[in-house]
Amino acid sequence: MSIFKKIIDRELPAEIVYEDEFCLAFKDIQPKAPVHLLLIPKIEIRSLAEANENHKELLGHLLLKASEIAHQQGLDSGFQVITNSGESVGQTVFHLHFHILGGKKLSWP
Ligand code: 5GP
Repeated sequence: MSIFKKIIDRELPAEIVYEDEFCLAFKDIQPKAPVHLLLIPKIEIRSLAEANENHKELLGHLLLKASEIAHQQGLDSGFQVITNSGESVGQTVFHLHFHILGGKKLSWP
């Protein structure tokens, strides 16, 4: 079971900022920006690479919520939504998550 599943099940504490039937958003424990949230689906999908056609609606929901939550957090001038898919690009927790980042000038990549 991933760390994030434990957060969903309230077995591990987290600073939750949004929750609905399908997803949960909470503050990253090691923030890389003044606002750094993680948005995750409640069902277990290891990464974006393992998502499939059955997850189409859920993925749309997550992206729309990412924008809504970013605005709720005051990120009106802009924000980044990033997902790492695979160990080789830095994924460390194998439960799909979108980083929502903002509150300072961010570079890319
Ligand atoms: P990844 O490297 O997989 O893209 O991102 C994983 C993120 O999860 C990292 O930014 C890391 O700081 C965060 N993280 C890891 N463990 C925990 C935890 O127990 N609680 C919270 N809130 N964030 C975590």
